[in-house]
Amino acid sequence: MPSFHDDDAPADGIPSTAWHPPPPPTLQVPRIAVTEELMHALPKTDLHCHLDGSMRIKTILELAEQQKVKLPADTEDGLAKAIHKGEICKDLEDYLVAFDVTCSVLQTEEALYRAALELGLDAAAENVRYLEVRYAPVLHQARGLKLTHIIDSVLEGLRAAKHQTRLKYGLILCGIRHMSPESSLRLAELCVAYKNRGVVGFDLAGAEANFPAKEHRQAFQLILKNNVNCTAHAGEAYGPESIGQALHYLGAHRIGHGVRLREDGDLLNYVNDHRIPLECCPSSNVQTRAVDDMKAHPLKFYFDYGLRVTINTDNRLITDTTVSREYWIAHKELGLSLEDLTTVMVSGFKSAFLPFREKQDLLKQVNAEIESTLKAFEKKQLGR
Ligand SMILES: [Zn+2]
Repeated sequence: MPSFHDDDAPADGIPSTAWHPPPPPTLQVPRIAVTEELMHALPKTDLHCHLDGSMRIKTILELAEQQKVKLPADTEDGLAKAIHKGEICKDLEDYLVAFDVTCSVLQTEEALYRAALELGLDAAAENVRYLEVRYAPVLHQARGLKLTHIIDSVLEGLRAAKHQTRLKYGLILCGIRHMSPESSLRLAELCVAYKNRGVVGFDLAGAEANFPAKEHRQAFQLILKNNVNCTAHAGEAYGPESIGQALHYLGAHRIGHGVRLREDGDLLNYVNDHRIPLECCPSSNVQTRAVDDMKAHPLKFYFDYGLRVTINTDNRLITDTTVSREYWIAHKELGLSLEDLTTVMVSGFKSAFLPFREKQDLLKQVNAEIESTLKAFEKKQLGR
């Protein structure tokens, strides 16, 4: 029986007599069929979700028309093809081409606000209870927007989504591997300035091969010195050395993807021993050819080995997916049972870049919601 209590997260060190951690709840997972409807209904997180890869396609077309931006196509189908929506790409770099298209219409405060609001609403509509949105503010300066305005617009959009739904959110700012380490440092400074103001972490994204993480360590030093959370894309388009660099040079608290971690057993044990969460994005990994096909994805192996895995979308539009769909695929194609799936859902909440006590309170709510949802489905399926 999995423990649904976050007993291994660090305490924040503030003494209090008013707050006590909840006792570890136990969850009875009924023997019911896993359906897409059930995956949709259960409360989930999306910890690895790019703003510029997760827009509504209609919105891109509308924004382009308003802003007089030329897109590679002016119909939904044409544009879907141009950005390889849901199609297998040659490699990660081929996949990243789509971001030139989406970023071309994300150069105004209104557009950034709208993209963030719609992403928040879309996530909440599939019962994501906690969403971490990430993006690289530096890619939204083509029309002269200030970095602070680029961040404020997205935060306002997410705040509006929160007001309309039950969604909790956090924003992660990304440095880009193939850009200069100085630009990462500037973004890290902003991340520190926005700590406790909606920004919850820092990330390193972009082309992984030929752009080692250690080049950006100055930015991460600043992040760590200021007690800000960080993650890094690693082990997606390059081998386990890249994950080692993310952990040992950058001090990453989570790893984005980590598909190639299985190639280094020693590092795999290190990640397991330190309970470092992996932000797995199965469909995206097939699309960028980080794995040959879904059956070859290491998610189930990692889970069975005891690693703290989470399931995420990466890019809702470009990969043509949702968190519910990724869970369904994890069941259908990778063989995770209902008990496994609910454990991964809880791991998502445990791995959130949230303060410990806030996370404990959220976990308590989520455990109750998982239990009531399972009961409702048991009643429906078995007529009890
Ligand atoms: Zn990513």
